[in-house]
Amino acid sequence: PNTQYEILRRRIFANTKEMWYFINSSLKDLKNKANGIAPELIDSINYILNMGVEHHRSLLFDIEQLEAVDGYSVWREKESADLSNLIQERFKYLQNPENCKTARKLVCSLNKGCGYGCQLHHAVYCFMVAYGTQRTLILKSKGWRYHKAGWEEVFKPVSDTCTSIEGESFSNWPGHEDTQVINLPIIDSLSPRSPFLPLAIPEDLAPRLTRLHGDPIVWWVGQILKYLLRPQEKTTAMVQEAMTKMGFKRPIVGVHVRRTDKVGTEAAFHGLEEYMSHVDEYYNNLEMKQVVDKRRIYLASDDPKVLLEAKKKYPHYEIIGDPSISKTASVSTRYSDSSLFGIILDIHMLSMSDYLVCTFSSQVCRVAYEIMQIYYPDASAKFRSLDDIYYYGGQNAHNVVAVWPHEPKKNGEMHIAVGDLIGVAGNHWNGFSKGRNVRTNQIGFYPAFKVKDKVQTAKFPTYAEMYK
Ligand code: GDP
Repeated sequence: PNTQYEILRRRIFANTKEMWYFINSSLKDLKNKANGIAPELIDSINYILNMGVEHHRSLLFDIEQLEAVDGYSVWREKESADLSNLIQERFKYLQNPENCKTARKLVCSLNKGCGYGCQLHHAVYCFMVAYGTQRTLILKSKGWRYHKAGWEEVFKPVSDTCTSIEGESFSNWPGHEDTQVINLPIIDSLSPRSPFLPLAIPEDLAPRLTRLHGDPIVWWVGQILKYLLRPQEKTTAMVQEAMTKMGFKRPIVGVHVRRTDKVGTEAAFHGLEEYMSHVDEYYNNLEMKQVVDKRRIYLASDDPKVLLEAKKKYPHYEIIGDPSISKTASVSTRYSDSSLFGIILDIHMLSMSDYLVCTFSSQVCRVAYEIMQIYYPDASAKFRSLDDIYYYGGQNAHNVVAVWPHEPKKNGEMHIAVGDLIGVAGNHWNGFSKGRNVRTNQIGFYPAFKVKDKVQTAKFPTYAEMYK
């Protein structure tokens, strides 16, 4: 298919949702206003809301059908497999140099002082810089807070042949082209910044990825996670056993409820009802396509009480989840060996789900979304985040380009001209996003449908020599 066709198809899908966010949230505001002064209007507003939901559902259904009948499904599957094979081969080549004694290396320590999702993102960032500078990544993980013996007992080592940090010359970042071993700090204190940081994807893959995938950076992160998280046999067996025991079955929606220490400091509280309303909407849509024997969710949370609450409040749902208490938020167990299996399992189940409902402010949820991309040609729209849009901690500015002009009509809206670059801060899920207009420096709201994403690229090496 032609790239423009694929971009348009995804754009119509996304903007159908945006239109409904706008109308739905505006009508709900109107209902609140009418409540006191014109209660006779409430019925009419509810009528529009209910019909609107059906319109919206039917449009999304048709656009999804388009993807099924346009004749490109086989191409999408093949292109997805080809791209993945290409990049995985390059990773293997980079990580297993012919001569480890002379190979250029980038050294990272896994032990960033944060949670599992955060540490995975740290390792992915290291891998991006390693791939970009064409250095073999050495991941130091002895004494890992989640597994003292190290990463290699849980996942395959990042290299089969080259794991020693030995070398002729050493330096901290940035070092020189010919420094053999370079130490990379965490992304937060990287100076100078590298051109290979998110949201940049390899330039040589960009044309194919913008055609295939709705959010190429998420594909890129997903491929690195695919390489890093190759499980050891024991890990596979544990996950398999748990999956069978819990009765993991499709269809299934993955729900991640992040509570405890995150709420109140880094993220707002969201009630279970809010998550479940999106799950319900997912199933309402699905039922237009197929018979749903049972509405099913996989529920993951750092707060075990959520699972009990869900089972009580949603008896008509089949609720699958790991009830183990080892994941409780108490600081003593949070980062322990025993909690590692719980979080591996939860992330795996979430990523295997058909759809994700969670808060992108949580790295657990973002990692699941990234891994999910491995299982589909394009799973970029298979989620609903209750707060943030997708981001990568430490990323460069996320810019979008205005494709329609906008005159502010209400307080807080900004002026945009076609072609303006806007650094986006977030989507308010009411039809508007917030951002900073790079041209005018104005900060404000703009209708989300009036922009398109700008895919960032960097000149990563193309590894042409490995095909010689
Ligand atoms: P974030 O704080 O949510 O952005 O993600 P991090 O991964 O950096 O830190 C949160 C930590 O809390 C995780 O690494 C887990 O140890 C724990 N945690 C959070 N949510 C879950 C969950 O759904 N299941 C399990 N097992 N642990 C969780």
